[in-house]
Amino acid sequence: ERSQDADGAIRQTDSDAILARLSTVKQGYLEDPFVAHLVPRAQFQPARPPLINIGTYVRSKSIDSLVDQWLEYCEREQKSCQIVSLGAGSDTRFWRIATGAHADTLKTYVELDFPDVTTKKAMAIRKSKDLSVVLGPPDNITISQGGTALHSTKYHLLPCDLRLPPSSFLPSTIGGILSPSFPTLLLFECVLVYMSPEASSALIEWFVNHFASTPDPSDGSALGAIVYEMFGLQDAFGQVMMNNLRSRNVSLPGASPYPTVESLPTRFTQHKFTFSNALTLREVREKYISPSELERISNLEMLDEVEELNLVLEHYAITWGAKTFVPSETSRSFL
Ligand code: SAM
Repeated sequence: ERSQDADGAIRQTDSDAILARLSTVKQGYLEDPFVAHLVPRAQFQPARPPLINIGTYVRSKSIDSLVDQWLEYCEREQKSCQIVSLGAGSDTRFWRIATGAHADTLKTYVELDFPDVTTKKAMAIRKSKDLSVVLGPPDNITISQGGTALHSTKYHLLPCDLRLPPSSFLPSTIGGILSPSFPTLLLFECVLVYMSPEASSALIEWFVNHFASTPDPSDGSALGAIVYEMFGLQDAFGQVMMNNLRSRNVSLPGASPYPTVESLPTRFTQHKFTFSNALTLREVREKYISPSELERISNLEMLDEVEELNLVLEHYAITWGAKTFVPSETSRSFL
């Protein structure tokens, strides 16, 4: 049975994620003017080890690049786009997009997480002018549901438990916010591990059905999705990583059911996605980060244990895919 403690340990993983991001920004790997506003006492937070910084850098670069490609695809299709981040935690992606080159393409951005997490984030947004100004005029920002939800013109922050049957909460939380007629990207960044494979699958299936129900088949709607997760944990190193998490009381009911990088796209192909692909972070670092960037980041900090870095990066993967409901030439080019 679920205990409050176990859920508290899951929510705590958001602090780890945001502190790693903050460290990566402070050490010069990434730029993010918003992250410090989401971390209490940000200036006093210690840097994380180089291995964590590099991993966070590669993870962030990979997802940023895929999200940018999705936004560019929407621009070519002359469509504005919707993004739903499931288990968004303290992520700053909305603010980075809304102040970036593709801001006008973004129609709606929805973040879902446990109510404790959304309450804290809503408070941080209200307290920080740098965050709230991006949401538009103050009159357009409303806090609701006892402080657990926040709505603005484009950005919506909503409480939920993603383990519940999707039809029991998604229609009432996002049904009125998302339109199935616009291309929509789902982000599952380090979240599926905390729920059963059945619950993960049910979430993806709900979105597929919601979008398939669009009344006008000529509207070019499409569903994209990106999953970031640990995988291949059956080997010796994977067991060490699992034990490390378990020792912190984090239970992992959804430890990736896909043992190899080749099997990861099954997450999406089983829902009849038009295509899907996966890369480990090691592959991304070695093949997709430009030599000049690699050179730049290698000068930031000393990393002694390249072998250990590779072992860790081999156990994390990005899987992405898209399902187009109307065949379109350009829709194939989301990588
Ligand atoms: N996606 C963010 C990122 O990558 O920075 C946060 C990742 S953090 C490791 C996992 C997040 O998923 C936490 O904020 C946690 O509260 C949320 N989460 C886990 N299980 C959840 C559930 N059943 N319902 C809602 N949120 C959940």
